[in-house]
Amino acid sequence: MKPLLISDCDEVLVSFAAPFGAHLEEAHNMRLRLDSFALSGNVRHMADDSPVADDAMPDLLMDFFRTGMHRQTAAPGAAEALAALDTLYDIVILTNIEDEHRERRKSQVRALGMDYEVYCNRGPKGPALKRILEAHGSPPAVFMDDLPPHHQSVKTEVPHVHCIHMVADAQLRQMIPPAAHADARIDDWPDARVYLERLINEENLARTGVRVR
Ligand SMILES: [Mg+2]
Repeated sequence: MKPLLISDCDEVLVSFAAPFGAHLEEAHNMRLRLDSFALSGNVRHMADDSPVADDAMPDLLMDFFRTGMHRQTAAPGAAEALAALDTLYDIVILTNIEDEHRERRKSQVRALGMDYEVYCNRGPKGPALKRILEAHGSPPAVFMDDLPPHHQSVKTEVPHVHCIHMVADAQLRQMIPPAAHADARIDDWPDARVYLERLINEENLARTGVRVR
């Protein structure tokens, strides 16, 4: 049984902040200011620079995933790293978007050279990860995400999973310290590839409580 590599999509495998910002400008006359690592408070009406209410965010995200996903590009080196890691890991994508976007997401990542199974989720990712691991026969596993709360959730639900905190966007990564619950912080895919190869080859997965068979 190969270990499972479960990766988030937005801001790990594909860009998010820049294309979402471009979509907001063109479709909604809004601007995404990246003053902090959050959407809340950072989306502004271009007309008067007033903040867009947080409760408008779900609809704006829904619209982006319906009509703006084509703007997203692969994180540098992501497709190449996953292609190389494919012999060592079973790779799946766990993305927090509504189920209606699943086929679009699958087509998107396939077009970007990352043709892997896509699981959609809402809320904290720990419970979803637990279900995915059980469905795959409970293999050793590595989880990658840009959002610290997901690492906390995963460590709560399935503490043996090795967690890598990655923020693919070069501007955003400077705004957020390493997630306290992650085992490692790695922002570049070429570095992540080396790390993930070592994790198996040196059996470091075993050291973190995960057995590599
Ligand atoms: Mg993400």
